[in-house]
Amino acid sequence: MRRILHIDMDAFFAAVEERRHPNLKGRPIVIGGRGDPDSRGVVSTASYAARKYGVHSGIPLRTALKLCPDAVFLPVDYRSYARVSEEIKIILASVTPLMEDVGIDEAFLDLSAMDQPPETIAREIKKRILEATGLSCSIGIAPNKLLAKIASDLQKPDGLTVLGEDDIAETIWPLPVRKLRGVGPKTESVLKRMGVHTIGDLAVASVERMTERFGPSHGRTLHRAALGIDESPIIIHWEPKSIGRETTFQRDLSHWQEIARALAHLTRQVVSSLKAAGYRARTVTVKVRFSDFDTQTRAMTLDGPSDSPDLLRRAAFQCLGRFELKKSVRLLGMRVSKLE
Ligand SMILES: [Mg+2]
Repeated sequence: MRRILHIDMDAFFAAVEERRHPNLKGRPIVIGGRGDPDSRGVVSTASYAARKYGVHSGIPLRTALKLCPDAVFLPVDYRSYARVSEEIKIILASVTPLMEDVGIDEAFLDLSAMDQPPETIAREIKKRILEATGLSCSIGIAPNKLLAKIASDLQKPDGLTVLGEDDIAETIWPLPVRKLRGVGPKTESVLKRMGVHTIGDLAVASVERMTERFGPSHGRTLHRAALGIDESPIIIHWEPKSIGRETTFQRDLSHWQEIARALAHLTRQVVSSLKAAGYRARTVTVKVRFSDFDTQTRAMTLDGPSDSPDLLRRAAFQCLGRFELKKSVRLLGMRVSKLE
């Protein structure tokens, strides 16, 4: 089963502004246009305090001012937000190269090939982002992108929601049909006229009714979406320079066999990420940190790029053979680079 993680930063622009202006923390903040509520323009982001007054993204700034006259209005400072976004994306890409960058404050990660439980990975991501940026995010984990995105929205802010196939009827079906990907305001109003208000209504409607009304392709996609079916892949725009894993042992290893077993395990993980990302590698590097923190690497370059588990494992072991393993080993790492 696939394990897809969707991460969405909480009120991202407002959160960056609060971090920059701590005196604004907790106050209603509205960010949009040039920050002048008397001008034309729409709300880009409202802080949670402003949302309590009914202010949300997309409404005119003037309307926001009427709803919440005490709000602080700020201009959109896209460059600052993009800088913070970049920091976050680097953290995410270090978890797995299988990252789809969907926007300034959102991304999907494919965790299917990872050993750790997805919830553990999600908690670690939340912690690392909080430490690096001071910002909170919400994460959804599900068997596909469609459900992961719905899941990340279920417990905002600072949420972590795991959905399985079994949760679809109970958790997804009661939601308004608008929450489904591909349902914009137009489709929503057509569906409502057909008596379809919730995702569950759509799931139990006949496919024929949907394809008649929305055409064979969109009609079928909508119906499948309501059933929680989505096979769309993670699309990687991000070009990794290298893919690697390392592990610090609970206790230092001194037996060659234990070290070899650990290296074989790391190599399997790295090769599976490499293959899943559709790359082949030319260079293999093994890193060893000894118990006294002395850290060394050995690398070798193959004749040509490869994604063969056998070939890459052999290369990793050749590198390992070039270490003098006289001290016990605290950390072991394996990395492939020169990717094609
Ligand atoms: Mg967001």
